[in-house]
Amino acid sequence: MKCLVTGGAGYVGSHVVIGLLDAGHEVAVIDNLSTGYRAAVPSGVRFFPLDLLDAEAINKILASEKWDVVLHFAALSLVNESMRKPFYYLRQNYITALNLIEACAQNGVRRFVFSSTAALFGGKERFSLIPDNARVEASSPYGESKFLIERALVWADQIYGMRSASLRYFNAAGADPLGRLGEEHTPETHLIPLAIDTVLGLRGKLKIFGNDYPTRDGTCIRDYIHVTDLADAYIRVIELLDRRSVTYNLGNGLGFTNMEVVQAIEHVSGRKLPWEWAPRRTGDPSMLVADSALIRRETGWSPHYSSIDIIVETALQWRKRNPHGYRKQAGIGQEKWSPIFGQEVEL
Ligand code: UDP
Repeated sequence: MKCLVTGGAGYVGSHVVIGLLDAGHEVAVIDNLSTGYRAAVPSGVRFFPLDLLDAEAINKILASEKWDVVLHFAALSLVNESMRKPFYYLRQNYITALNLIEACAQNGVRRFVFSSTAALFGGKERFSLIPDNARVEASSPYGESKFLIERALVWADQIYGMRSASLRYFNAAGADPLGRLGEEHTPETHLIPLAIDTVLGLRGKLKIFGNDYPTRDGTCIRDYIHVTDLADAYIRVIELLDRRSVTYNLGNGLGFTNMEVVQAIEHVSGRKLPWEWAPRRTGDPSMLVADSALIRRETGWSPHYSSIDIIVETALQWRKRNPHGYRKQAGIGQEKWSPIFGQEVEL
């Protein structure tokens, strides 16, 4: 299939791009490189350095070629930042998605896969798995922006017959098991990459936000899903879209506390991870763990890499080989991209 991926230079998007290539699909990427990295897009993939706010340019790309499926990852994605910049988040995520959805619907795209989020369930405290049909109560403008996009897709289906999958995924983590790609954000805010940098001595003490949550050890619980398992799910749902639109939770159904993540990193690396308590971070729900029964049943998907040790192991390996991430590669030509670069950091 001929696939157009927005945000394909970002963490999850780039892993889905190599998953699509490995499965034999043709891929092109649109990315404005505001948070993604040119070096994360493999050679052989066409790259459009565009902002989705540019409706005219997007429409041109959709009108000039026939795309079998569009996969939409490009978005602002930090819960905490969205609490500080609510209208920026709502506007940026929703308007860019509307530009894309409208261009797709009007140019006859039949399949659309949307990266939604578990953050749209963040509104109330839960201490059981979140079912696929749980009530949406976003606790942040970020979560709300994703829900608005899901609603736009409902209308694109009803009025234009564009089938879509909204994948509400939980905490993407880990790195390509073949070492071709990894996780890199600037600034980094996510627990696992920060903790790995701490254990590798690339940064100072890790701060653990909050120790008074109503969980087994007082720290937040998250459902970490390996990014390669996420990529597998994307590829499976594309096939389903010939028939109908779907909305799925996507997690591995296991929750780990922040302290358990720290322990897993110490166990896998064989090193002490220096950490300290810090106040709660705004917008953080106590527990987010998925019940992904529906996608398992309807697509046969199940996670293969999502044990916390494999997640940590793959992330650690990538970071050891790429202590500067993609940063050193920023701005270089695609021809210089190589699967594994940089010096290994000695543990
Ligand atoms: N977290 C932490 N210290 C950090 C970064 C994150 O304690 O330096 C916590 C955060 O408060 C949350 C969990 O780790 O409880 C997962 O946060 P992350 O930002 O990785 O993902 P989110 O669940 O917010 O999407």
